[in-house]
Amino acid sequence: MSEYSNEITAWDRDHFFHPSTHMGMHARGETPTRVMAGGEGVYVTDVGGRTSLDAFAGLYCVNVGYGRQKISDAIAEQAKSLAYYHAYVGHGTEASITLSKMIIDRAPKGMSRVYFGLSGSDANETNIKLIWYYNNILGRPEKKKIISRWRGYHGSGVMTGSLTGLELFHNLFDLPRPPVLHTEAPYYFRRADRSMSEEQFSQHCADKLEEMILAEGPDTIAAFIGEPILGTGGIVPPPRGYWQKIQAVLEKYDILLVADEVVTGFGRLGSMFGSDHYDMRPDLITIAKGLTSAYAPLSGSIVSDKVWQVLVQGSDKMGAIGHGWTYSAHPICAAAGVANLELVDELGLVENAGSTGAYFRSELAKAVAGHRHVGDVRGDGLMAAVEFVEDKNDRVFFDPAKKIGPQVSTALLERGVIGRAMPQGDILGFAPPLCLTREEADTVVKATAAAIEAVLGR
Ligand code: PLP
Repeated sequence: MSEYSNEITAWDRDHFFHPSTHMGMHARGETPTRVMAGGEGVYVTDVGGRTSLDAFAGLYCVNVGYGRQKISDAIAEQAKSLAYYHAYVGHGTEASITLSKMIIDRAPKGMSRVYFGLSGSDANETNIKLIWYYNNILGRPEKKKIISRWRGYHGSGVMTGSLTGLELFHNLFDLPRPPVLHTEAPYYFRRADRSMSEEQFSQHCADKLEEMILAEGPDTIAAFIGEPILGTGGIVPPPRGYWQKIQAVLEKYDILLVADEVVTGFGRLGSMFGSDHYDMRPDLITIAKGLTSAYAPLSGSIVSDKVWQVLVQGSDKMGAIGHGWTYSAHPICAAAGVANLELVDELGLVENAGSTGAYFRSELAKAVAGHRHVGDVRGDGLMAAVEFVEDKNDRVFFDPAKKIGPQVSTALLERGVIGRAMPQGDILGFAPPLCLTREEADTVVKATAAAIEAVLGR
């Protein structure tokens, strides 16, 4: 490390309040600072010159990979011609209008409009407000509760942190707050009774949901929100038949479905959207990460025709909608989005996520599923997880204090590969850029097997 980076490291300890970081340990210098400097394809490099294969694409967001000049050129050109103008009262730029059209062209059937934000959290916040507005216009002021799932992740704001179903994001923050409720996590490996088939467990989840709706009163439940595949809660694909059974319950009680596609939107599962992949029929869709591959912050709420028709009645009655962000549809971010979605098509990344994802998951399972402390290897498209257990036969989990997941991810980093120790449970997650090649997948698998052996033995 150079003198420069030592000085940077000191400033980091003293002044930088990092998200999702142990505050005390980091300030005391007990956890490492890594100062990142460059990236190319699936690789990132720090100021010390150490390169790692980023098998989590940042935070499952750098879908096209690092260093794409097409996107940086689009950002530079937009910054030079018009860095900012707002989108209020009918304003826009060619970039934001073109991007809306590109999104609706790619979205599942029945989608109509895109409301732009900057983060997945604020897009979900928008969705909740639109749902309340919708039910007020329809004369149903009691129909306001939102059902989310334990282990779901929908953001870190007051409302979206409440929707999130992970205790770490609630504890000491006085969350979750009403009117948010949580139902069963669709987590077959951890939650299902051993005698249940996947279909039976899906039915159990749908029954639990219906029980909650009936106990609360169907006229009080506005919407259900879920990621097509659980992400931060452990990278857990839905058990067989899950979305069909859940949707049947929602339709019975006239409850809207929000598909949170912040991770799955724009190709991660090998389909453009997770909703199409699992045959979901959402009323609203949340998008962010893959929309710009994180080259600039941009999110969106995609509104269906059904919801849009009602929202329009609202402004006919009440005037302009009272909801706006200064940076909504920011021109620089929108220009990044247009270039990014073009690149996804040009490079065939949706198809690659499907084919290389299948190869990666199958090689990963071959290499590690037989290990005595690997309880489950799962995933879909280019999302995968390895879950560690103390005892495989009796499905006994490790004491969280042993930090097995973080130990394995550290051992993996020492071998040149970034995986993510998921925040709850001993789960090592992978979500590499969608341009991953088979050779790069082999590198990840080899390093993972070696890291597991280094921490947990043979
Ligand atoms: N929804 C999902 C499914 C996510 O995975 C995330 C972030 O990881 C969010 C929402 C929140 O997005 P952001 O961190 O941009 O607020």
